[in-house]
Amino acid sequence: AMRIVGLTGGIASGKTTVSNLFKSHGVPVVDADLVARDVVRKGTGGWKKVVAAFGDDILLENGEIDRACLGQIVFSDATKRQLLNRLLAPYISFGIFWEVVKLWIRGSKVIILDVPLLFEAKMDQWTAPIIVVWVDPETQVTRLMARDDISQEQAKNKIHAQTALDWKKTKAHMVIDNSGTLEETKLQFQEVLNQISRPLTWKELAFSR
Ligand code: ATP
Repeated sequence: AMRIVGLTGGIASGKTTVSNLFKSHGVPVVDADLVARDVVRKGTGGWKKVVAAFGDDILLENGEIDRACLGQIVFSDATKRQLLNRLLAPYISFGIFWEVVKLWIRGSKVIILDVPLLFEAKMDQWTAPIIVVWVDPETQVTRLMARDDISQEQAKNKIHAQTALDWKKTKAHMVIDNSGTLEETKLQFQEVLNQISRPLTWKELAFSR
């Protein structure tokens, strides 16, 4: 049996930081963002769908999709955003599934599914336990402003456009509070790593959520 552990959180909450900790400890990570990029690479089925729906104008000189341009288009238009999601969802789901299968074939016992939209895409049902990387609201705004070089208002808008991080926290089996220093996060990470490396009891499986 293979345990598929879910890893999620909010924008700039520290998912990548925690995901890198797992990688450096030898736990394989399936990165949904990487898969989402792969499925629109030039010539793939996803690429063809997107070009058919959005036209050649979104292509770069080399034929790859201009992700920034596409991002601009769907950011300001909910209908187009839904269309893009609808076109790509099956490719992304299959891509993630395939990465999981490859790790299973390799004999991995524990793997991490790093999916920012784990709950929104209803993939939480395939993962247990679910780890939510949480951060307090003030720290989240500050880190997002610094990372993306944006104003406080822009940062708050980006955060509010997403599912509330506090709601995700209530759905988690394990929470890593990344509001403090990296050292404090690493201590919590060690505890989580110990937990997921030992078998869950029947009770934990049945009553954890
Ligand atoms: P996104 O999903 O938006 O890409 P994320 O959840 O993967 O973000 P990270 O990229 O890990 O978040 O972290 C967001 C920013 O905060 C980064 O610039 C990172 O360097 C910084 N950061 C993360 N954790 C800490 C910490 N404990 N102390 C200080 N800075 C941190």
